[in-house]
Amino acid sequence: MKKILKNGNIFVERDHFVSALCIEDGFITHVGSNEDATKWIGGEVIDLMGKTVVPGFNDSHMHLLSCGLFLQKADLNNANSIVDVVKICKEFLAKHPDTKILYGRGWNQDYFTDEKRLLTRWDLDKITTNIPVFVTRTCGHVASVNSKMIEILHLDKSFDVASGGELGFDGDVCNGILYEKLVSQIEGLIGESLTGQDICKVLCEIAATANACGITSVSSNDMPIGSPGGDAIEEGFLLYEKSNPTLRINHQISFLDLETFNKRIEEGYNKSTNPSFNRYGPIKLFIDGSLGARTALMRMPYNDDPSTNGSEVLTQEEINSFVKMASENGIQCVTHGIGNLGIDNILNAYETVNTDGENPLRNGIIHVQITDIGQLHRMAKNKILSIVQPIFLHYDMHIVEDRVGKELASTSYAFKTMKDLGLNTSYGSDSPVESFNVINCIHCAVNRQDLKFYPDGGFYPDEKVSIVDAIEAYTAKSAYTSFEENIKGKLLPGYYGDLVVLSDNIFTIESKNITDIKVDMTMVNGNVVYKR
Ligand SMILES: [Zn+2]
Repeated sequence: MKKILKNGNIFVERDHFVSALCIEDGFITHVGSNEDATKWIGGEVIDLMGKTVVPGFNDSHMHLLSCGLFLQKADLNNANSIVDVVKICKEFLAKHPDTKILYGRGWNQDYFTDEKRLLTRWDLDKITTNIPVFVTRTCGHVASVNSKMIEILHLDKSFDVASGGELGFDGDVCNGILYEKLVSQIEGLIGESLTGQDICKVLCEIAATANACGITSVSSNDMPIGSPGGDAIEEGFLLYEKSNPTLRINHQISFLDLETFNKRIEEGYNKSTNPSFNRYGPIKLFIDGSLGARTALMRMPYNDDPSTNGSEVLTQEEINSFVKMASENGIQCVTHGIGNLGIDNILNAYETVNTDGENPLRNGIIHVQITDIGQLHRMAKNKILSIVQPIFLHYDMHIVEDRVGKELASTSYAFKTMKDLGLNTSYGSDSPVESFNVINCIHCAVNRQDLKFYPDGGFYPDEKVSIVDAIEAYTAKSAYTSFEENIKGKLLPGYYGDLVVLSDNIFTIESKNITDIKVDMTMVNGNVVYKR
């Protein structure tokens, strides 16, 4: 099916705008002027009426399935107290009386006005003691469960906690707080009941929600191969790729351990028959925690809690082994690294497989939050990819100076420096940690303000990026991250017919008004998948 779009302000790539383009059988075939368009015969004509068109947004790191499951959870993002958490969960239960396990997500004790502490089993028992409750902190690295869940899972001193995880105790009594790897271990245990078909349904729903934000591609970390529930998740994605998908997914794949990874390589890494919508991408490693929970691995103890410098989820030796095995098998690596010591460890590992500053497998670091300038230079020298989430500034700008001090804060979240050093810097959301609303993320990168427009002038404003840089980071740079730069991220002939029509001209709007921009229409593979 052929479609001709004309009378637009179409951003093809940096410094290249046209008025018209033609899409046939899912691919762009022509770009040019309105006059050129008169020669493209046949097909449906869409009059853009002067509106701005950009390539479909590509979120370079998020957790799509968790986002989908989030729709079926109590939303605790706006809970301002422990009392609020209890109230919101009780309301959720009243609305969903068939709930077998109550899930909640998004709480943050820093926002609590009654007591700024992690939730315990005793808090959650005020919601219910009849059904199990599992509520995850906003960062995903800490979760709390109620007494019923503790009873069902027999969480006590004898529980076999996965390495890199920790179970909280008050004296000898489990207090219901789960840290780091234990969070996914328990999620795996209780998530086993979801079938591939359930998961496929959740994916189709969340794909439509992403399309409404202008997102046409994501790199997503959902598949925990080798973990409980992992098989059903993989089956869900394999069903999704045959269900008229509207969102292209590149998997950042987590493996339980090195043995599982090795076994999978022997079996064959890729299982997809529709890789343009369900692509088996890099392995995803996870080597430290989050800044909010003070589990990001730092060279020095935390400024506001000198008793800790964070958690080492994988040792240097373990990281090296994964990176080596990936490299020997031609598989890309992307690694979660937030604290400066965590980032050092990742760079050490990557440099063992990359020589002469070349990085042919495009190994990258996800988050790259707490950095000094030397580390950014080291990344540039070794062509390490930077996969960042400017939307994190919304929350982190309020805590980063307390956590790590002013000096280090001033060189952290250094998106402009990354761009100037020539790092391939792609943007994403890490949703559901933050919402995947692209326009809000671009606002954070361009204005360095939170979503309430604080502070005036921006947080370390030297690190503001231009609008075109932000758009590129969400399109062409994300495509490079998944080796798809010749097919995604630009609106040139031969590229996918994936694009977004915006309500206003994002290139000329006053930057303070970016968040007013709406997504008017989204196309994937030349099909309209969303219309406002
Ligand atoms: Zn993530």
